[in-house]
Amino acid sequence: IAGEGAAAWNIHYRAMARQQAGDDITVLSVGDPDFTTPARIMDAARDSLYAGNTHYADVQGKQALREAIVDHYRKYDVDASADQLIVLAGAQCGLYATAQCLLDPEDEVIVPEPGYVTYEAVIQSTGASLVQVPLRADNGFQLDVADITAAITPKTRAILLNSPHNPTGTSIGPEQWQTIAELCRAHDLWLISDEVYADLVFDGSHTCAASLAGIEDRTVVISSLSKSHAMTGWRLGWVMAPPALIGHLSNLALCMLYGCPDFIQDAGIAALKGDHGELEVMRDAYRQRRDAVCQALAHSDAVTAICPDAGMFVMVDIRRTGLSSAEFADRLLDEHGISALSGEAFGPSAAGFIRLSLTQSPERLTQASLRLRQCAEACLSTSSECL
Ligand code: PMP
Repeated sequence: IAGEGAAAWNIHYRAMARQQAGDDITVLSVGDPDFTTPARIMDAARDSLYAGNTHYADVQGKQALREAIVDHYRKYDVDASADQLIVLAGAQCGLYATAQCLLDPEDEVIVPEPGYVTYEAVIQSTGASLVQVPLRADNGFQLDVADITAAITPKTRAILLNSPHNPTGTSIGPEQWQTIAELCRAHDLWLISDEVYADLVFDGSHTCAASLAGIEDRTVVISSLSKSHAMTGWRLGWVMAPPALIGHLSNLALCMLYGCPDFIQDAGIAALKGDHGELEVMRDAYRQRRDAVCQALAHSDAVTAICPDAGMFVMVDIRRTGLSSAEFADRLLDEHGISALSGEAFGPSAAGFIRLSLTQSPERLTQASLRLRQCAEACLSTSSECL
């Protein structure tokens, strides 16, 4: 990961270093839930571990976990089967493995920008090229399917989408999905859909790409328990795809991983089996946090928050300050002890924005947002000092 992406991550590392040195830093620069994994999920891992599940596990993933994932998808009108699933070490591993199995050096992959920071490196690791289509700030960063259509060439192999979206919190609606499905059919393309924030939709509902009719043979859905169950560190995710592609992914997983740890998969089964209300509690907490940030930043002359429908982030327009997003992020950390990522880390169309993670209490987020607002408003009144 190079360029603006790498520069923005420096902010995060600087923030962590200052926090470790004892400074009071509000870290809003990473999408790692601040919640602890629910106790019953940890209990399941411990019980499995002490039951002796310390051996190699099924490379494709335990049948019981794959069945639990199948059940989990019923709420999204997806009727999958366990042979369409492989369990991998997080969605990140799913993205990488899918790219290795699907892409050749001459291929192009259409990806909206701003977008998740690892996509570029993942695609380029195969020799394929990334063709970026802009999500426009003046359109609330909503995807315009016409831009995707215009980007298709004879070399296009796949469209990689992320809904709900990091960093903007926008979602792709059913009608847009329908048009995308038609494009994939008409141009013989794969649809790779990263849905790690599927369970964090505040307003409206999630459409899963695997529910789209007529493209089941070319749809790959990638997700994980990282965000929904506060399990980033467990590294447990999956790919849902046609069985032939799952076969290739299994071969790769054999060489790469030799299966995910058995007791961690048992924790995954516990996470997905039954309704324990944790998902709703966390989703409500994120919604409350989103509202806290949007309220604290409302009616400011200097900043505008784009209030997201989903996910764990809020994009804040700081263009009126006259600073670049990287300069503003620096100032926010150096002078106010708040770490946020520069929008440019996610793509040029997010220049002039910064991304705040909703990974602190509403009180702390309100405090941080008010300080951010003051920082931006000071730039308006003393613009020469600010520049
Ligand atoms: N995709 C997106 C859009 C993400 O934001 C993240 C995590 N930040 C991932 C994939 C990777 O998630 P995981 O922890 O499941 O590897």
